[in-house]
Amino acid sequence: MKLRDISTKEEILAILEEQNPGNIEKITQEAYNVKVENIGSKIFLRGLIELSNRCCKNCLYCGIRHDNKNVFRYDLTDDQVIESALFARDAGYGSLVLQAGERTARPYTARVTRLVKRIKELTNGEMGITLSLGEQRREIFEEWFAAGAHRYLLRIESSNPYLYSRIHPKNALHSWDRRVQAILDLKDIGYQTGTGVMIGLPYQTIPDLADDLLFIKNIGVHMVGMGPYLTHSDTPLGHLGVTSTSLDLTLKMVAALRLLMPKINIAATTAMQVIDPYGREKAVMAGANIIMPNMTITEVRENYQIYENKPGIKDDAALSKSKLEENLKKMGIEIGWREWGDSRAFVKKA
Ligand code: SAH
Repeated sequence: MKLRDISTKEEILAILEEQNPGNIEKITQEAYNVKVENIGSKIFLRGLIELSNRCCKNCLYCGIRHDNKNVFRYDLTDDQVIESALFARDAGYGSLVLQAGERTARPYTARVTRLVKRIKELTNGEMGITLSLGEQRREIFEEWFAAGAHRYLLRIESSNPYLYSRIHPKNALHSWDRRVQAILDLKDIGYQTGTGVMIGLPYQTIPDLADDLLFIKNIGVHMVGMGPYLTHSDTPLGHLGVTSTSLDLTLKMVAALRLLMPKINIAATTAMQVIDPYGREKAVMAGANIIMPNMTITEVRENYQIYENKPGIKDDAALSKSKLEENLKKMGIEIGWREWGDSRAFVKKA
C-alpha cells in the first residue's frame, strides 16, 4: 500500500478501508513518522473556553441546537472568561480557543471583540487566540482579526452538500455554500484557518470521508479538527438511534490526513476521548499534534454538551490539565509549553 506522497481518492480509500490490525498499525506509524519529519514530535495545548451555549442554529446532530429546550442557557461573564484565560496562561499554555454556539447580533459580536482585546492586553500579547464562533459576516471576521485573534476554526461538517443538507435544516441559515464562503473569507483575511468534519454521521459512506479529506486538501486550510459523530438524544438525528464510530476509523482518518498534508496542525479532539479514554493520545500517535483541554469553569460545563457523555464535565480546569499531562507523560509525548504552536503550513501574507 502506498503511504508516502498520497494524493488520489483511491489511495485514501485504501487506507480508510483497511481492516487488518497489523496494516492499520503500519499506517498510523507511518503517519506519525511523517509528522515527526515535517513538524517534529511536540504537541501543543490550547485551553478551550466555552463562552456560551446560546445558538441561533438548529443543526440536527447538536445538543445545544436552538430548539433544544432541555438545555440551561448560559453566557460566561467577562470576569469568568478572563479568569480562565489567565489560568491557562499561568499553566503554561501558549494559546486559547474561544468557542460558542453561533450568534450574530451586534452586542454579542462587539463583546467578543472586547474580550479578545482584553485577553491580549492582560497577557502582553503572549496568548495566541483561536476563535470557534460559527459563521459571521466578513466584516466581523475582520474586526476580530484586528482585535488580535489569529486562528479560526470552522468545520465544514461534511464536504458533501447533499449529506450536509440531510444533517441540517433546509433553510438559508444552514447553507453549505455559505459555510464554504466563510472558510474562504477567513483564509483571505489572513487567519490560520481550520476546518474539519464529523466521522460516522448517519448516511455517510467511506467514499464521503475520502472526499472530505480531498476537500480539506483542496481548500488549503492550515489546521483540522475532526472527530467521531456522537449521538445526543435531544436531537432529531439522535432519535435515529446510536451509531458508534470506531476509534480505528477515526485514527485512519487522522493518519490519512497527515499523509496528505504533512505540515498542518491536526487536533486530537475531545470526541475521540469519548469513544476511548486514550483516544486523543492514540490520535497523537497517528499524526495529530494539537490537544485542546477544557478550561471552562466547572459550573457551566454540563450545559455545553454538543454530544452526550462528554468527558470531564465534573472536572475543573486544573484537573483536566493534570489528567491529560499524566496520560501524555505515560506515552512519552512531549508538550510545547508557552508556544503558540502555529501551523507550519501557514504562510503569512505580505
Ligand atoms: N458554533 C460553532 C462551534 C460548534 S461546536 C461552529 O459552528 O463552528 C464544534 C463542533 O462540534 C462542530 O463543528 C461539530 O463538528 C461538532 N459537533 C456538534 N455536534 C456533535 C455531535 N453530536 N457529535 C460530534 N461532534 C459534534
